[in-house]
Amino acid sequence: MLILVVEDQPQLRRALQLNLRARNYEVLTAPNGREALDVAASSPPDAIILDLGLPDMDGTNVIVAFRGWSRAPIIVLSGRTSPGDKIGALDAGADDYVTKPFAMAELLARLRAALRRDEATAQAVPAVAAIGRWTIDLTAHTIVQSDVRTFPAGSPAPTLTPTEWRLLQILLRRPGQLVSSSQLLADVWGQGFQNRTNYLRFHMARLRRKLEEDPSRPRHLLTEPGMGYRYQP
Ligand code: CA
Repeated sequence: MLILVVEDQPQLRRALQLNLRARNYEVLTAPNGREALDVAASSPPDAIILDLGLPDMDGTNVIVAFRGWSRAPIIVLSGRTSPGDKIGALDAGADDYVTKPFAMAELLARLRAALRRDEATAQAVPAVAAIGRWTIDLTAHTIVQSDVRTFPAGSPAPTLTPTEWRLLQILLRRPGQLVSSSQLLADVWGQGFQNRTNYLRFHMARLRRKLEEDPSRPRHLLTEPGMGYRYQP
């Protein structure tokens, strides 16, 4: 398990690193938001422990940027105690909130709990889904033809852009569920893009052209007018 510790205070950063290593976690550290995002992008962590008060940016913005591409648990560590700060961090996508000063044992317990929840979620969601003739493996990022009897071999398997993959992942991991446009926009493009429903229309149309048997009459990637989208298995 790789944990990213984001904390500008050197002593606390060091204490976290030592305590995590003592419990057999691999640890990377960053003293500010910019470095945190760089490190996370090159070595995707299994969880992040994140100080909100960073020298270069608000930790909430780190959460938002990270949530654009990862669901790994984020535990916020902060001296701020107002309900507004907590709600802001949780709304941005943090999983838990520990107020400074804190007991190391409590933080480690919260981290274990968050990692367990994450693992349970990962196991609960199907990693393979089907759309028409295509079988989509969300873990391996592959698309292969499902059944050559029902669907005679024809066109080669489509390739998807990273944006198309992200959209598809979110929908396919919630089979049968409505996912709101604002949630899709926030998850794929980030906070502040919630009104850009034209982005969704454009990319969903492309996904249908690539995956649906009849893109003009989609059977799996459905639009719920005015609300969002749904993957119908
Ligand atoms: Ca700080």
